[in-house]
Amino acid sequence: MRVVFLGPPGAGKGSLAALCKQHLGLNHLSTGEIFRKEITRKTSLGGRVQSFVTNGLLVPDELVVDVMAKQLSAETLKNGFVLDGFPRTLGQAVGLDRVLQARKAPLHGVVYLKVATELLVRRLSGRRVCSACGINYNIRTMPPKRPGQCDQCQAALITRKDDQPATIRKRLAVDRKEATKLLAYYKKKGLLQAINGADSLERVFTRALALFRAEGWIGMG
Ligand code: AMP
Repeated sequence: MRVVFLGPPGAGKGSLAALCKQHLGLNHLSTGEIFRKEITRKTSLGGRVQSFVTNGLLVPDELVVDVMAKQLSAETLKNGFVLDGFPRTLGQAVGLDRVLQARKAPLHGVVYLKVATELLVRRLSGRRVCSACGINYNIRTMPPKRPGQCDQCQAALITRKDDQPATIRKRLAVDRKEATKLLAYYKKKGLLQAINGADSLERVFTRALALFRAEGWIGMG
């Protein structure tokens, strides 16, 4: 199946997409994760996106669509994917459609995770990320077994630079501005579904699975 997860920063797109990868074998493509890796590796792409990412600003559409077009390889399309954090603007959504149409692999659906703003701020300020494998934790709701250490690979957990309170507010504002147009675009195409994301990850995953089954997306190439 080929789906997009939409929702503001902190809605749980990344955690839900990781479960879809684990249980459904889908590719999980996260633009934020790709950019952070490139920045850490000090590649030329990393250099081009660094100031946008650390300041909570959007990377220009053309560059993001280019990066994702490369990620959406024949192999990725064959096994299905969940897009997390992309598209973020109307321009990116149009760019994505163009890429997928050309590869004869249009989207099956778009899932919007609804979460109230107060909860988003609480989640983002408690978020910790593994410095090696990128898995997300939350010091309040999803703590690691050992404080400050990743359960999977034992590397140190860090707070993302853009999860500082002032940057969180800026990211939420940037997102709100774009989200309305993006939601309208997918609604008009008849692709938009919404689920309540203000719950434990297990419950949200159960809800998502029920939706995937009801829509007949599971197992779609
Ligand atoms: P995320 O991990 O999805 O919260 O993304 C972290 C940061 O990466 C964002 O604040 C942006 O600076 C950048 N970014 C990620 N995805 C996109 C996108 N689709 N368009 C533009 N910028 C993005």
